Amino acid sequence: MPELPEVETVKAGIAPAMEGQIIAQADINRPDLRWPFPENMSARLTGKRVLGLRRRSKYILADLDSGETLLIHLGMSGRMLVSGVKVGEFHHPHPVPAKHDHVVLHMDNGARITFNDARRFGAMDLLDTATQEDHWLIRDIGPEPLGNAFDETYLVERLKRKNSPIKSALLDQGIVAGLGNIYVCEVLFRTGIHPTRKASQISAKRIASLVPVIREVLSEAIAAGGSSLRDYRQSDGELGYFQHVFQVYDQEGKPCVTDGCKKTIQRIVQSGRSSFFCPQCQR
Ligand SMILES: [Zn+2]
Repeated sequence: MPELPEVETVKAGIAPAMEGQIIAQADINRPDLRWPFPENMSARLTGKRVLGLRRRSKYILADLDSGETLLIHLGMSGRMLVSGVKVGEFHHPHPVPAKHDHVVLHMDNGARITFNDARRFGAMDLLDTATQEDHWLIRDIGPEPLGNAFDETYLVERLKRKNSPIKSALLDQGIVAGLGNIYVCEVLFRTGIHPTRKASQISAKRIASLVPVIREVLSEAIAAGGSSLRDYRQSDGELGYFQHVFQVYDQEGKPCVTDGCKKTIQRIVQSGRSSFFCPQCQR
């Protein structure tokens, strides 16, 4: 499932093909993904210029010159393909239309943006740009982890009465936007905090130490995603999936990477999701 860095990478990949360009044609090939598409979606996109792309949490937002914003959510299995223009050093010809190509945007520069989603957990919506923060998918989302509103004071205040495990608290999108299972596991390892510790029972100093580590882990992953774009050669032009080197995520049974630690990484299940951690280094 794409997390914030993957979404940021997809955004960076489609931006050169979309920003400043007019959507010449919008093919909407079915009535819905996870939810129904907005009414008259094709007509509301056609002929509109894309002013710019942004990301909020795991949503890509494309502001149009009509005063509306196209919200794109990749969901579990959504894939964005760019063809007809160069991405990094590579030019992908238009693919043969495939099953599950649910939305295809034909840009006036010849680029084609294809949204393919076999499982249809993705979503697209059109929202009023001026009031977008009130949209039901956005209004309850906490601050961006890489933004100024997310700082040590904020996180200590939000977590000091949270009795849930720190792992669950950091996955709570109302506390911080866009953090998912993979990066929370990495953050807790780097800060030495055990995933089952109750948030309210962790000292303010240790909670504060999470903030720079969250920024660091996400920034490293975004940089890795950026490199993957520069060296973008997947045959079908798919964006946003790149090689990570994780220290604990999916490393069950492997030796801990901490110098002098002889333990192996363990896996437990919390709220139905795997947590990976070192029983020695994380307390
Ligand atoms: Zn260890």
